Amino acid sequence: MPMHTIIADQCCFKQDNLPFEYFCIDHDILSCKECLAENHRSCQKVMSVDIASKGAKQSQSFIDATELVEYVLETTHVITKDRQSFITNIEKEANSVKNALRELKEEAISHIESIEKSLLHDLDLKKDKIIQKSKTTINETKDIEKMVKEKKDIFDLVDKHGSEKQAFLAAHAYKQDLTDLEKRVTNIRVANQYYNKTESREVTGSYKIYRVNRN
Ligand SMILES: [Zn+2]
Ligand SMILES: [Zn+2]
Repeated sequence: MPMHTIIADQCCFKQDNLPFEYFCIDHDILSCKECLAENHRSCQKVMSVDIASKGAKQSQSFIDATELVEYVLETTHVITKDRQSFITNIEKEANSVKNALRELKEEAISHIESIEKSLLHDLDLKKDKIIQKSKTTINETKDIEKMVKEKKDIFDLVDKHGSEKQAFLAAHAYKQDLTDLEKRVTNIRVANQYYNKTESREVTGSYKIYRVNRN
């Protein structure tokens, strides 16, 4: 906006932009000729702007006005700068909180993964141990089965084709062997019943402990 337009704008807005031609000292106010007739009829000290404005650049009111302009302008700069640095700090703080949360999440996930890994390892060890033990039992049982089948073949043969004396001798000769085999299968059955209760509890144990701790 050119300078002369800005200065021309300083007209009375009450009276259709009439120029300020007067200054009323009593009211310390500029006035157009219409306002002067309306509001300052009884005022003692009224002079034309041309006379009142002599030496105005050195006057206290002009100095005060320019200082006020400087002060307000400087203050707007200070406020803007202050808010901008406040925004920057808030963004930094928010970012550092976000980073801390992400780190916390990663730590929690890695902790849970290590618990999972340890539980799975433990589970595999227990499972393998129990399966190995059951396989050993199966092998031992097969061994007993093989021996008892040999006896059965002999007893069948004697029953079909042997004499009474051969039956008598077989029954007494193998009595101790058969008693031993019976003891072995009975021991295996008792041991199995015990394992069924304790070992399967071993396997599910660690998982149950984990669930209890969650609550
Ligand atoms: Zn006026
Ligand atoms: Zn007046």
